[in-house]
Order: sequence, then C-alpha cells, then structure tokens
Amino acid sequence: MKAGAPQAEVDRLSDEFRSLGLSPEKIVGKHKTVLGLVGDTAEMDALQLQDLSPWIEAVLRVEKPYKRVSREYRHGESSEVVVSTPDGPVTFSHHHPIVVVAGPCSVENEDMIVETARRVKAAGAKFLRGGAFKPRTSPYAFQGHGESALALLDAAKQATGLGVITEVMDAADIDMIAEVADVLQVGARNMHNFSLLKKIGAQDKPVLLKRGMSATIDEWLMAAEYIVAAGNPNVILCERGVRTFDNTYARNTLDLAVLPVLRSLTHLPVMIDPSHGTGKSEYVPAMAAAAIAGGTDSLMIEVHPNPSKALSDGPQSLTPDRFDTLMAELAIIGNAVKRWDVKPAPIPA
Ligand code: PEP
Ligand code: MN
Repeated sequence: MKAGAPQAEVDRLSDEFRSLGLSPEKIVGKHKTVLGLVGDTAEMDALQLQDLSPWIEAVLRVEKPYKRVSREYRHGESSEVVVSTPDGPVTFSHHHPIVVVAGPCSVENEDMIVETARRVKAAGAKFLRGGAFKPRTSPYAFQGHGESALALLDAAKQATGLGVITEVMDAADIDMIAEVADVLQVGARNMHNFSLLKKIGAQDKPVLLKRGMSATIDEWLMAAEYIVAAGNPNVILCERGVRTFDNTYARNTLDLAVLPVLRSLTHLPVMIDPSHGTGKSEYVPAMAAAAIAGGTDSLMIEVHPNPSKALSDGPQSLTPDRFDTLMAELAIIGNAVKRWDVKPAPIPA
C-alpha cells in the first residue's frame, strides 16, 4: 500500500481479497503496510488486482518456494524479532545493535551456569545459552541434565537479568522449556524435523533456527517458512557451519557467505555461531570478527569456566577471561559498522 493509506481502505481491500478466496496477512512496516496474499494466486492478474484501489502502490508476485520469509514479502524491509528478557526487550534485526548470546554448551551445575551468566553479562552479552536437552551423536555421550537444568537456567536468569536460549529436541517438552526460555532453539539435527517445526511455530516464544549440517539455504528457509506458516513470525536464522569434504582442522565449514545471501533472500535476522562453526576456541575470535564485518545481526559464542573439564564442546569453548578480551576486540569492528551497543558493566553480585 502507498504510504499513508487509510486503515478503512486496507480493511476494505482485505475483505475484497477474502471474497476472492485469499487469506490476506497484514504486515505493518515502518513506512508502509503490505498485504501478503496467501492462497492460490496462480490465475490472478497483478494488473487487475492493482485496479482494486488507488492506494495500492504495487502488486508483486513472490516466485520463491518460501513466501512469508522472503524479502519480497515485506517489500524489502527487514523484520525485527523483539524478545522480552528480565532486563527489558532485546531486538534482533538488521537495523539494531548486534546481539551477543554466550554461555556453555551444556548446563552442568548451578555454580557453573550462574558464574558463566554473571561473567558473560558483565562482558556485554544479552542472552545466556546453555543446553538442558542435548542432541548428541553418541547415545553414550552426556545427554544434558534435562528438566533439572531448566531450573538452573532460571536461577542464572534471575541472578543476572539475561534472557535465556535453550534447545528443544522433543515437541513434548515445548511448554516446559518455554516457561524458562525466552527463545527456543531448534538445533541443526532437527532443522528437518517438520513436525517439531510446526509445533514450535504454533507457540509464541521466538525461535532460533539453526542450519542443518548439510542443508542448502533454500532448505533452511523452507524450514523457517514452516514455523512462520504455523503462526510464529519471530524466527532468527543461525549459521553454525556445514559439513564439507574437509574437517581436518575445523569441525565444520562456517559459511559466512550466507550473510549477504540471506540478506538478499529473506527479511529474517541472522546469527552466526563461530563456536560450532569451527569447533576450536582459537578460531572463534577471527570468525566472530569476520561475521560482524560481514553484517551479522547476532553472535552465539560458547563460554565455559573450565573448558578442559566441560561435559560437551570443551575444545570450542572460550574461558570467561578470553571472552572478555574477545568482546573488547569485537567492539572495534562493531563500532566501525555502527552496530555496537555494549556498555562496560560490573559483574552482577
Ligand atoms: C548447540 O548449540 O549446543 C548445538 C548442539 O548446536 P548445533 O545444533 O548447531 O550442533
Ligand atoms: Mn555445543
């Protein structure tokens, strides 16, 4: 719709589209309102639709297999995923400061999760990550402490005011996890779990969707489309490295090219996870810096108070001291791209 289109006209048009058998979805952007027409539009003529109102600026057909997550669907405007946290709302978007998420791979005990939360908060992170339910390749590896770890995440949240991000492996656990988590993570191994995607799309908490280990960008965006089509528009895409022919030195191949590619294809915010992306703590800083320079909206960094004793992903975890230094290093690039909003804070008591 043209800027300034009267609400009554938008409503009248919506009714008209409904009478044509379409479901109009109203997207109110900063400057414009977009009506997304979902349904069988194959036989419809764009010019005829345009004639329905002088307030229609343009009628565009989204040719991609994913519709709602496509950049065209919002006429080029980036979406904002606003997450409530105890410290207030945090926005993931291309037009906002970079959001840093940090914490251990797994929640191991109360002391370590609360201590890590305090340290990453003081360094400028806005979210604590930590797995309660862990998707492990081996059934004999540590599977996470499950429900009891959720209480520990909650304790860390109360102690620091940080938001909490944790993974949902099984749709049966969504409600229980959503009581503590501010963002629900779908892990790489579940990106293709369509029944989980539908169920996570049918609840209100924002979703962090990791890219499957061998998923193409189109497959990843279709997975996001499942969540949005089920009713939840608040999806953040997380690149965490893909499998390639060479894992001699790095665990995965971190595909930073997704930054410009996704920016052109989708309006959804993007996060880069250099910890799983490289598998080695010494490689994390360079890739985090590159991600900021490349336009990421968010970073996920694994931090553990004692990486050599970690129950999972120790080799890729930074110590809290190394994380402090990293945040100071990243500030230089973050400020250069005008997306750094980290104020030095004392370690919460
Ligand atoms: C994790 O975030 O700890 C995790 C298991 O990630 P991924 O699904 O990317 O392997
Ligand atoms: Mn991990």
